[in-house]
Amino acid sequence: MTAFLALLARNKLALWGGVALAVVVLLALLTPILPLADPDVIDTANRFKPAFGDGGWLGTDHLGRDLLSRLLWGTRLSLAVGFAAAIAAATLGAGIGIIAGYYGGRTDNLIMRGVDMLMAFPYILLALAIVAALGPGLMNALIAVAAVNIPFFARNIRGITAGIAHKEFVDAARLAGMKDGRIILTEILPNVIPVIVIAMSTTIGWMILETAGLSFLGLGSQPPQADLGSMLGEARSALITNPHTSIVPGVMILIIVMAINLLGDGVRDALDPRLKSGALTRPMAATLVDRTDVPKPEDDGVLAMQDLKTEFRLKNRVYKAVGGVSLSVRKGECLGIIGESGSGKSVTALSVMGLVASPPGVITGGAVRFEGTDIIGAPYEDLRQLRGNRVAYIFQDPLATLHPLYKVGDQLIEAISAHRKISKSEGRAKAIALLQSVRIPNPESRIDSYPHEMSGGMRQRVGIAMALANDPDVIIADEPTTALDVTVQAQILALLNDLRRERGVAIIFITHDFGVVAQLCDRVAVMYAGRIVEEGPTDAILTAPAHPYTKRLIDCVPELGGGRRRLAAIPGLPPMVDDLPTGCAFAERCDKSTPACRAGEIAFDRSGLRAVRCIHPEPQGGAL
Ligand code: ADP
Ligand code: MG
Repeated sequence: MTAFLALLARNKLALWGGVALAVVVLLALLTPILPLADPDVIDTANRFKPAFGDGGWLGTDHLGRDLLSRLLWGTRLSLAVGFAAAIAAATLGAGIGIIAGYYGGRTDNLIMRGVDMLMAFPYILLALAIVAALGPGLMNALIAVAAVNIPFFARNIRGITAGIAHKEFVDAARLAGMKDGRIILTEILPNVIPVIVIAMSTTIGWMILETAGLSFLGLGSQPPQADLGSMLGEARSALITNPHTSIVPGVMILIIVMAINLLGDGVRDALDPRLKSGALTRPMAATLVDRTDVPKPEDDGVLAMQDLKTEFRLKNRVYKAVGGVSLSVRKGECLGIIGESGSGKSVTALSVMGLVASPPGVITGGAVRFEGTDIIGAPYEDLRQLRGNRVAYIFQDPLATLHPLYKVGDQLIEAISAHRKISKSEGRAKAIALLQSVRIPNPESRIDSYPHEMSGGMRQRVGIAMALANDPDVIIADEPTTALDVTVQAQILALLNDLRRERGVAIIFITHDFGVVAQLCDRVAVMYAGRIVEEGPTDAILTAPAHPYTKRLIDCVPELGGGRRRLAAIPGLPPMVDDLPTGCAFAERCDKSTPACRAGEIAFDRSGLRAVRCIHPEPQGGAL
C-alpha cells in the first residue's frame, strides 16, 4: 500500500488531481455545517448580484439565490450521484463480466450478446431513453447513467476473467474440490479487483459529466434542488448578460472531472503491476556503464571478460551481482559456468552485450573484449550490430522467448533480416536450412508451425536455430536445457557439440548441473556469490576439485550405479549479494574455514591452467 502511494505521489499530475479532488470532497462533506445561506430561498429583489459584492462571495442567480451555497450543495449532490452510479455500474458490470468469463460457453454467449445490444445504442441516447421511460428525477438519472456504463465494465472484466479462469491455480482450486462460488470469490475476484478499480477511476469523471448532462436537459435534479448540471441549465438563458452564473458551476465541473481523470490515470499506472517494477521509466537500450578505469587488453580468445563488475543500484541497497569476473573463450571452445541459483551467472551473461536492464543495473568496472575491442559502453549501434549477429544468446525457456503469434519460420527470417537485407524466398530457404541444421524433421512443413504446436525440445532447437541465424562467433547459452527432460537434453547437448566442431563457434554454457558440464564443456568456471572461485579443464576439476565449494557441488550429483554413496547437500545458503562478507564468501558454509579466510581478499591466480580462490584447497585438488 505504501509502495502504491509512493508511486502515485511520484506522478505530479496525479498528485495535483488527488489534492484538488480531496479539497472538493472535503468541502462537499462539510457543506451542511458551513455557515451558508439556504440554497433554495428565493429573493427576487436581489437577482443577478455580481460576485464579491453585496450578494455573497459568488453573487446570486436569476432567482436571487446564493450561488456559493447552491454551488456547494450542488457539488455535494453531483459527486454523490456520480460515485453512486460508478459503484453501481462497477458492481453489476463486474458481476456480469465475471460470470460470463468464468462459465464461458453458452452462458457467456447469452450474456455478452445482451451486453452487445446495450452497447449498440449511443450512450447518451440510451440514457435519455431510460430517463424518458422512468420519468425525470435525479434517482432515475442515476439509474440511467449506471445502466449505460454497465456494458463497459462487463466487457472489460469478462476479458480478464476469461484469461484467468483456466490458469493452473484455478484448476488447482477446482481439483481441491472447491465450489464455483468460492473459487470466484477467493481466486478470481482478488485478481480482477485492481482492474475494476482502474476502470472505475477512469470513468467516474465521465459519469459525473453524464449526470450533469441529464440534469442540464432538465431530466435529472428537479427545481429547486441544485446540482451542477441543473445550475448550468438554469443559467443558460443568462449566459451573455450574467455569465458568472454559468461560469461558477462550469468551473466546478471542469475542476472535478479534470481532478478525477488525472488521479485516475495515476491510479491506473500505479496499480499496473507491469509498470510497478519499472516505475514508469523505460529501460535503456544498453546497460548503464559507470566505471573508472579500463583493464589493459590481454590477447585472449574471441570473447574475454576482464574483472567485470555489475551491480543493481536500488533505492537504499546495492546488489553486487557480479563482483569481478575474468573469463575468456576461444574459437570452437566450450566454457562452462556453473553455480547455484543466484550466484550471478545470468547477470554475467547479460552484461556481456549490455543486456542487463538499467535501471537498476550498472556495469561498474572491467571490460568485455570481443576480438580484442572493448565493448562495454560502446555506442548503441555498435552493440546492436554485435547482438544476435556476432554474439548470440540461447535462453532457458524457449516458449517465453518465441513470439506466440508468429510462425517460427517468420521469426527466424526476422532474426536474419535484423542484420542483413534478404529477399523473401532467400529468407525462407535459409530458415529451412537452419531448421535442418538443428535436426528438426520435415523443416519444409515445420517452418509454418507456431511455437505452441511444438514440443519443448523442438522449441529449444528453434531457439538454437535462431542463435545460429547469422553465423555468430560466440553463443551464450543460459541454462538452455534446464526446462527439458534428460533424453531431450542429451540430444540438445550433442547438437551444440556438433555445431561448435563444424562451425567453430565459441560457446559459453551456463548451467547448475555438473553432469551437463561433463558432457559438453572443455573448461569450466565455478561461480559463487558473483565471483569465480575455481577454473580449469573440465576433467581435471571433476576428478580433483580444489575449492571446497566445487567439491561439495560435485558431491551433490547422483551417480548412476554409484552404489549407496550419500548425497550431501551443502548446508546453509549463499550470502546475499547486498551484504557480502570480507574474505571468502563461502567461509560460512565451509568446514575448513579459518579466521584467515575471513580476513581479506583471497587471491585468484589465472596464469596457469587451473586457478582456485582458496587458501585451504583440497589436498589432492589442483592436479592436472
Ligand atoms: P543465476 O546464477 O541464478 O543466473 P542471477 O545472475 O540471475 O543468478 O542473479 C544474481 C544475483 O543478482 C541474485 O542474487 C539476484 O538476487 C540479483 N539480481 C538479479 N536481477 C536483479 C534485479 N533486477 N534487481 C536486483 N537484484 C537482482
Ligand atoms: Mg540464471
